[in-house]
Amino acid sequence: MTDAPTPDAAAGADRPVVYELAPDCTPADLEEGARYHGTVDGVVNYGVFVELADAVSGLVHESVLDADYDEGDEVVVELTEIKENGDLSFVPADPGEYDAERVEHAYDATPVADLPAREGEVVHLDGAIVQIKQTGGPTLFHLADGTGVVPCAAFERAGVRAYPELEVGDLVHVVGRAEETGHGRQVEADAIRPLEGDALAEAAERVDENLEAGASAAEIEPLVDWAPMADLWDGLEAVASRLRRAALEGRPVVIRHHADTDGIAAGVALEAAMESFIGRTHADPDAPRHLVKRLPSKAPYYEVEDATRDLGHALANRERHGQQLPLFVMVDNGSTEEDTPAYRHLRAYDVPVLVIDHHHPDPEAVEPFVAEHVNPYLVGDDYRVTVGMLSVEIARLVEPDLTDRFRHVPAVAGLADRSSADAMADYLALAEAAGYDEDRCQAIGDALDYAAYWLRYDAGHGVIQDVLDVADHPERHEALVDLLQGRAHAAIRRQLDGALEHREETTLDSGVRLVRVDMDEHAHRFTYPAPGTTTGAIHDHVVRETGEPVITMGYGPDFAVLRSDGVRLDIPRMVEDLNAELAGAGVSGGGHLVVGSIRFVEGMREQVLDALIDEMAEAEIDESLGAASPRDYTLPT
Ligand code: MN
Repeated sequence: MTDAPTPDAAAGADRPVVYELAPDCTPADLEEGARYHGTVDGVVNYGVFVELADAVSGLVHESVLDADYDEGDEVVVELTEIKENGDLSFVPADPGEYDAERVEHAYDATPVADLPAREGEVVHLDGAIVQIKQTGGPTLFHLADGTGVVPCAAFERAGVRAYPELEVGDLVHVVGRAEETGHGRQVEADAIRPLEGDALAEAAERVDENLEAGASAAEIEPLVDWAPMADLWDGLEAVASRLRRAALEGRPVVIRHHADTDGIAAGVALEAAMESFIGRTHADPDAPRHLVKRLPSKAPYYEVEDATRDLGHALANRERHGQQLPLFVMVDNGSTEEDTPAYRHLRAYDVPVLVIDHHHPDPEAVEPFVAEHVNPYLVGDDYRVTVGMLSVEIARLVEPDLTDRFRHVPAVAGLADRSSADAMADYLALAEAAGYDEDRCQAIGDALDYAAYWLRYDAGHGVIQDVLDVADHPERHEALVDLLQGRAHAAIRRQLDGALEHREETTLDSGVRLVRVDMDEHAHRFTYPAPGTTTGAIHDHVVRETGEPVITMGYGPDFAVLRSDGVRLDIPRMVEDLNAELAGAGVSGGGHLVVGSIRFVEGMREQVLDALIDEMAEAEIDESLGAASPRDYTLPT
């Protein structure tokens, strides 16, 4: 490409040409014997170094020097040789009157995904800056082009921010050398500059196309042929696609899951898929660890306390590591009105939220705050489609190659959430074929429930993966599950010993048996099993003894846990009614149609429990509702 010719171009037809390289030129743009504009950028005893472009410089040997030079001097040199090792040799040139001609580097941008094949070469990259991290040495500009993310190291002075004018989100052109550092791949950047004009528009379009292609969910079939899964498939693909896009855009992902077996199974599957996908698409081997965070939520909804803590971490990571604010994924929680105070906090920071839940949803309350909302109730199904089942499919849509790791996970989740879905038979068969019979799936669920209780607010990274058997430690898995399930059952038996003989049984007008146990008086508190599991174990015992329909209520000073079989309780609606009826009782909570928990103020306990029992008396008998089969904790494990 030719610049504007020198003033009297017409007269200069025969004048020599001196080329001026654009700053992003590489040695590939040079021609031996041609003359170039340069700047002296180093004077040594054997000659002077002349820089022609950011990544192009060479030596004028002292034997051919015609004068003294100082750093910064503008010179014209002739390129005498490009040596085999890539070194450039120049001699001084004095062309007299000349025409200047600019050389633009007509580069083909290398896709980040192709860098492994270009090791040691000077490459050109176009992409968006997605993270800027200052190290004690260079500044690392993480560059994303939709095919992958690579750190580009730019050095100003040790620990000093290079290119302070650049910001996360800028589309830039990087020229530098692709290198394997011994700890991942990076580009040693000679120059990073913002794209402008046509180049900017073209790069933006290319990055968008790459992102679109890279983010689209894998084309797979669901693990089992099941109408609810087909109805929800578009939503699952949309979530998977947003997760992939977040990874390709270098955006961290926070997975917040309910701390029960279904929630853990779901969260761990998504975490594994994201770690694998990020591992494949990011050059930095630490990226999976830095960009994926999984945390349990004790309450079955996203608490303001958790949201505040998560935002605090996110803001600190932005400050310290130049990260973007995360994408939040609510798993086995997030669908209810109770989540909205936390969502309001996230929205203040414009943080996107995805929800995968099977608790009775309040879409009107939630949907203004969330980008995707997957819940079987929204397509006319219910809690029997568990979040573990849904999330395994999302994990596969993100990273289909991990399918073999997850074949037993839907069955574990379904058993733990007592899903009576007709697909349970298929999920159990799938697990069986992968080497996990029903007892084993149940044992894994019991072990996870027990581990989750003691982990409290900790994700239990490593241990949880071994218990669920999605890591490759089969012996450790078996030993851990046996240990944890054994301890869980011993603790449950101890609880039953104390509680069963103090249960109060009545029969409601509807003919439903109601079993009540005062947890405060007759159960060990602040240890495993918590009131929910204790109530479940009592309930199972009663159902086994006397059959359906039964409601079991374990209550304490300010809470009640409900379990039912053969009755349509509709706990979310009961909470609404109680609130309308009893001013100042502060009733909250919810759950599913047949299992849930509520809280209230201690001083109103008698009124709340009486009103609750009145509500139960009106609940209709429905034999299709309830747990798949009651557990027996006295059996050897
Ligand atoms: Mn669940």
